[in-house]
Amino acid sequence: MAQIIDGKAVSAKIKEQVRDEIAHGNIKAGLAVVIVGSDPASRVYVNNKKKACEFCGIKSFEYALPEETTMEQLLELIDTLNNDKNVNGILVQLPLPKQLDEKAVIERISPKKDVDAFHETNVGKIMIGNYSFLPCTPAGCMELIHSTGVDVAGKECVVIGRSNIVGKPMAMLLLHENGTVTVCHSKTKNLAEVCRRADILVAAVGKPNFVTADMVKEGAVVIDVGINRLENGKLCGDVKFDEVSEKASFITPVPGGVGPMTIATLMKNTLTAAKIQNHE
Ligand code: NAD
Repeated sequence: MAQIIDGKAVSAKIKEQVRDEIAHGNIKAGLAVVIVGSDPASRVYVNNKKKACEFCGIKSFEYALPEETTMEQLLELIDTLNNDKNVNGILVQLPLPKQLDEKAVIERISPKKDVDAFHETNVGKIMIGNYSFLPCTPAGCMELIHSTGVDVAGKECVVIGRSNIVGKPMAMLLLHENGTVTVCHSKTKNLAEVCRRADILVAAVGKPNFVTADMVKEGAVVIDVGINRLENGKLCGDVKFDEVSEKASFITPVPGGVGPMTIATLMKNTLTAAKIQNHE
């Protein structure tokens, strides 16, 4: 039976470290969160980010814009935030309404304030291993892997999903720690067979109960990034938890696994941004 990796506990520790560093260093840090429209899931994420800011002593500035916001209006707000000395980090909650060009919006955020690490400049820096910020969800997954004591070096690592936000940067972070990394996606042949090779298996697909026990090697570390809402309103991951936890050595639950880590890394990134900007 697998040990459950407690994302709440690991994330709480990170937030405490951020809070203590801010308090002891008397650091002024501010995070602007921009939400456009009224997507209920986005609303929940934004509220959780606000709460985490309060806990850490980071000032949060929330901009809730109407669904019909235009590109000009959103870019104007980003320009204002880029120039606001009280704002060290800018986060635009995705997805955006259809009329808005997500890529152009991300590129408008100053790379120095891009605490999500989605800007092309930061993506490039991560690629070559010379970065200030790590993308929040993959970095959170790495912290959870570290918390197991399992060393990534030389391990077979399989990431299911190749999105720019999770799958691709996750593969890069595993590679930075000398994992032997395979990235699977919707066109991968013999997926179960590839996954069975994994000592460390990361699922970021967005399909409930997608990873079944027959896809998992005995003793693997299984990180479930998926957040899927079932018809009964319950949240579930991409991994069929009950049967996979019989085989894995460590496994993350959903909720309470990767989700809280994403926010903790965001707090860490905002502190890093503040420290860099306060010294300029
Ligand atoms: P995405 O839809 O952008 O990417 C999904 C990936 O899964 C794609 O690369 C696709 O190739 C792959 N895929 C789809 N069907 C497949 C199949 N049959 N076989 C193999 N691969 C397949 O999604 P995303 O933004 O990367 O998010 C993935 C999941 O992670 C979602 O459930 C999302 O809600 C969740 N998520 C969680 C957090 C968090 O904080 N825990 C953060 C971001 C995303």
